[in-house]
Amino acid sequence: MLDEILSYREMCGKENVQTLQRGMNFRLNPNYSVILMSQRKNASYNNKIYENGLTIEYEGHDIAKTSTRIDPKNIDQSLEYPSGRPTPNGLFVKSIANYKSGKQKPERVKVYEKVISGVWSLKGIFDLVDYKIVEDGKRKVFRFILTHSGLQQLETNQAVSLVPRSRLIPSEVKKAVWKRDGGKCVICGADDELHFDHDLPYSKGGTSITTANVKLLCARHNLQKSDKIE
Ligand SMILES: [Zn+2]
Repeated sequence: MLDEILSYREMCGKENVQTLQRGMNFRLNPNYSVILMSQRKNASYNNKIYENGLTIEYEGHDIAKTSTRIDPKNIDQSLEYPSGRPTPNGLFVKSIANYKSGKQKPERVKVYEKVISGVWSLKGIFDLVDYKIVEDGKRKVFRFILTHSGLQQLETNQAVSLVPRSRLIPSEVKKAVWKRDGGKCVICGADDELHFDHDLPYSKGGTSITTANVKLLCARHNLQKSDKIE
């Protein structure tokens, strides 16, 4: 099972951009949006992937810190900038409203998750289907709901790596495996085009995921392995 790992530069390359600075990137590409997420304990936002791996709850983004006197974490997240232009939260909310009223299909969102600093994994393609506004104790935040789109092709002229069910490898396991395998393919030592490889395909009953049955493989050795299975 694949779970593609990318360096920051590879991730930007895939999205045809020089840099990806923001977590929420509405229509980064003509057919889809991109979000970056972290579930790490020190992450600035509280995001989670549900146990089944099919649903993500993604926190909206704060207002910019424009002066040292304001703490964005104490201020309600907003739909608009002071200029009246929509924030990424506003763009997401509008697209959800359009979807719910039947004006458009759900916005497609490609989700990347930070494994460790500079290392990202592609979680797959999700549909932006809903949101809620929650009171987090001191202010209002948006929580966007994304559900996995299944196996779909985003672009016709670019092969998009699809990630069947592999998103179920928990971040903690990924971090431990990355460290254990030294960020290299365990067979040839290549340090690019790496994937987290899960030993027991879900279709064959593989369930519990521990560091013992996950390893790092380069694309070439991953392909060889899938050839063998099929
Ligand atoms: Zn290899």
